[in-house]
Amino acid sequence: MAETIQVTNPATGEVIKEIQADSKEEIKQKLENGHKFFKEWSNVNAHKRARLLQKWSQKVRQHKDELAELITKENGKPLKEAQGEVLYSCAYIDWFAEEAKRIYGRTIPTHMESKRLIVTKEPVGLVAAITPWNFPAAMMARKAAPALAAGCTFIVKPASETPLSGMRFIELAHEAGIPEDAVQYVNGRGSVVGDLFTSSEYVRKITFTGSTPVGKSLIRNSAETVKHVTMELGGHAPLIVAEDADIDLAVEQTISTKFRNSGQTCVCANRIIVHESIADEFADKLAEATNKLKTGNGFEEGTDIGPIINEQGFEKIKEHIEDAVEKGAEVAAGQEYDSDKEKGYFFVKPTVLKNVTPEMTIMHEETFGPVAPITSFQSIEEAVEIANSTPYGLAAYFFTNDYRTGTFLHENLKFGILGWNDGGPSAAHAPFGGMKESGLGREGGLEGIEPYLETKYLSIGGY
Ligand code: NAP
Repeated sequence: MAETIQVTNPATGEVIKEIQADSKEEIKQKLENGHKFFKEWSNVNAHKRARLLQKWSQKVRQHKDELAELITKENGKPLKEAQGEVLYSCAYIDWFAEEAKRIYGRTIPTHMESKRLIVTKEPVGLVAAITPWNFPAAMMARKAAPALAAGCTFIVKPASETPLSGMRFIELAHEAGIPEDAVQYVNGRGSVVGDLFTSSEYVRKITFTGSTPVGKSLIRNSAETVKHVTMELGGHAPLIVAEDADIDLAVEQTISTKFRNSGQTCVCANRIIVHESIADEFADKLAEATNKLKTGNGFEEGTDIGPIINEQGFEKIKEHIEDAVEKGAEVAAGQEYDSDKEKGYFFVKPTVLKNVTPEMTIMHEETFGPVAPITSFQSIEEAVEIANSTPYGLAAYFFTNDYRTGTFLHENLKFGILGWNDGGPSAAHAPFGGMKESGLGREGGLEGIEPYLETKYLSIGGY
């Protein structure tokens, strides 16, 4: 019998819907369909593919409220954030619709009069994607749009916590006229679907957003058939506030990067590293602003912080806070919980911790929750050392009005995305992705379509 997946509302614990997981046979069939349809889809001309993507984006905009409500229901984030996510998803579709028309090849100046050297680009084939629950629509858009724009067929497995918005998102693609076999979804447990994707001879590329351990296993399993991989994995973002920084701006931007989606984002500031001369002032101001944030059901007017996705996530956040406090951190705001295991909801009030030191777990592991741990530094070199002392390299933020400090940080921070006096650098037209164990490849920007393309070189002789 097919497995059932219960989708619950993390703000109340109530079951929203039960969906059937696809059986292995069904998943294999869909992979075969995607593979077979590749020939037809890749022959659709780029302008037509672009128009279909534009129609998809229009459909998504028309259904913005419906999608946002689904996201808030199954993910818990405040409705205004969910609406923002839907528009952010459209921005990716719009961007890649245009990029479809700019997949250029080139000619290479020849080294022999009798030869002509030509480079062309072609789509890699069927792309299989696995997406997380924290941005169920946007993470899908960032993968589906470049794949379809490039001429690849696409199949996605959404996270089991949040499949409903993703399924609707794909259905809207069909309603916009994108053929069903060009863009498909499957439901099922990650490990089961992941193995079917990586072992399939039909799949030429795996694109994944999620945790680093799962990403590593997908890379390993893709080796057998040497698939292309794009990996958007975990983060542990530092946020550096230099001695000369505009403290009010730094506080405002820290609030926005730290607490979006209840701190459950891969790019959210996880280690706040402040110059010792302003650490107390910064912490007081951050605590004051944090105390104004309203925690609650994402559907309630004025909610800033929604629930934590599940018990496992909640326990990890709690452990990080308790461990830091036990080891001497001072609570400047928060450390309050509202949870009911029986009912199945878990809230953590946004928390600010002062005097955080390197031996605390929170300085080494991604918390994925609304906790802002503040530590201090003396020299900017020390700040860089603390920031880079992690296997992760996704996002980093720094606040300074001194161009020398800013340039030094730009050149020395080992992270794929930097925000200088900016807590929200993400944009569809800019490359998003990490260094080190935060991933491989980039999504968005000029770079975002390249991973869906093969390079073919032709040498013509005897001319
Ligand atoms: P996760 O446990 O890795 O799950 C993500 C997806 O992978 C889900 O669809 C999940 O399916 C699936 N999955 C689980 N185990 C699998 C396996 N063995 N093989 C194949 N797929 C498997 O991550 P998460 O806890 O949902 O998400 C949080 C993590 O994602 C954080 O580390 C965060 O930093 C990272 N993230 C990174 C980015 C980025 O762009 N770099 C963006 C967002 C999130 P099921 O739901 O069915 O288990």
